[in-house]
Amino acid sequence: MTTALNAPATQAPEPALIERFTRIVGEQHALTDPDAQLPYLREWRDQYIGKTPVVLRPGSAPEVAAILKLAHDTRTPVVPQSGNTGLVGGQIPHESGHEVVLSTQRLNKVRAVDPSRTSMVCEAGVTLEEAHAAARAHGRMFALSLPSKGSCRIGGNLATNAGGVNVLAYGNARQQVLGLEVALADGRLWDGLRALKKDNTGYDLKDLFIGSEGTLGIITAAVLKLLPQPAERATAVVALASPAQALDLFMRAQDQAGADLTAFELMARLCIELAVAHVPGCRDPLAVPYPWYTLIEISSLREDGRAQATLESVLGAALDDGVILDAAIAQSERQAMELWRPREGVSEAQKPAGGNIKHDVSVPIAQIPAFITAADAAVKRVCPDARPIALGHFGDGNVHYNVIQPPGMERAAFLARWDEIAYEVHGVVTRMGGSISAEHGIGRLKRRQLAQVKAPVELEMMRAIKRTFDPNGILNPGKLL
Ligand code: FAD
Repeated sequence: MTTALNAPATQAPEPALIERFTRIVGEQHALTDPDAQLPYLREWRDQYIGKTPVVLRPGSAPEVAAILKLAHDTRTPVVPQSGNTGLVGGQIPHESGHEVVLSTQRLNKVRAVDPSRTSMVCEAGVTLEEAHAAARAHGRMFALSLPSKGSCRIGGNLATNAGGVNVLAYGNARQQVLGLEVALADGRLWDGLRALKKDNTGYDLKDLFIGSEGTLGIITAAVLKLLPQPAERATAVVALASPAQALDLFMRAQDQAGADLTAFELMARLCIELAVAHVPGCRDPLAVPYPWYTLIEISSLREDGRAQATLESVLGAALDDGVILDAAIAQSERQAMELWRPREGVSEAQKPAGGNIKHDVSVPIAQIPAFITAADAAVKRVCPDARPIALGHFGDGNVHYNVIQPPGMERAAFLARWDEIAYEVHGVVTRMGGSISAEHGIGRLKRRQLAQVKAPVELEMMRAIKRTFDPNGILNPGKLL
């Protein structure tokens, strides 16, 4: 009997089986103590708190493969986890306590940097920040960047096809990968660690695993692209009256900076207020409050003042034309970091504000202003005192449209309305031809919604792929599909 695609396991593994798993990694790396397990069972927003008989921490790709072989043969469900920063519950085991957690944290080596300095091989448990440091040590840049970079890990970044603040210029995680090593569900290890930019030899298998959220195989290592480091970065926080003006400014910045426009982020005033109140070292970037802000970054490979001059020219013309209300341009690296701080800290800063119903959506860029207006109206209709807070990667059409609970309302009572509010917001997204998950994935949170927005033929193809790669349904059951 195979586990249904969308069902959690019905039976906990026997102690003798746990013992066999333990022998693969060694006792020290098989966590059964509830306190030691806790960091692997609780997700960042406390939305899902899971249970497991054991957290396995393999130290090599062959150990990962051996765990999967045993899981496949015994039909034991396995939940892959890397940095545990995922925001849709994909890395957390079901609360039934029947699933084994496989953490990639001990796969933490940068195996090699190519002599041409165009790529490096990183294991799945290397944190994104460590990958940045390894690239920097060779005078290069690894372009993927997320506010969670200190904790998230390459395996999770690729399994979620993460986006972040650099997608506008460099693309999302998928675009940063040349090759993969993957432990397959039946225990075979696929060595696809090819550092080739061009390889038209049939189906691109690595692209199936990227974004598959741990449902098709466990990524153990990857060949990551390296790029030249920009020598100069010009950064500004800009005040605006509305998202429509952000669109105008975005088009002007693209016209003048082209591919050198490396970030264009949007924040509602409430983002700044929450960041200033709750993130240490965060300051209001401008002397008086404004309704909306964008954070703009223009980069250049040459250190000749060109990036700064382009930024000043874009903002000067926009101010003269009444498109923007005010701006603060960083004059040093330290000031640039200060301007980034509210944007990077805003996810953390929303926690103390109470229950927060989050949407990670994308729409065509020109539709962002209309999306925010329509979503605000839809939320007001169903929950008049809730506080919508829009922010995100404007230049990618990606809005994090979060709805904070009304003051005084009980957190649980508000969160109980998640489906109702998400239905309204996603309705607006769908009518605009957008996506209900721009970068965080589907996980457990949006699994039911996926079925509503995907065409039956798409779901059938996805299920056929799942059955082919994981015929016994052991990999992350109940997630994504
Ligand atoms: P985990 O949380 O451990 O896992 C995520 C998913 O991948 C799960 O389904 C898991 O089963 C699967 N998985 C993990 N490792 C493997 C593996 N080796 N092989 C196969 N499957 C695996 N995301 C963005 O895209 N853009 C952002 O700007 C962004 N900002 C964030 C800011 C904050 C403060 C936080 C907390 C999160 C943010 N995220 C963002 C979400 C999160 O950081 C990303 O989804 C990240 O890529 C997850 O990496 P991880 O290592 O933590 O993965």
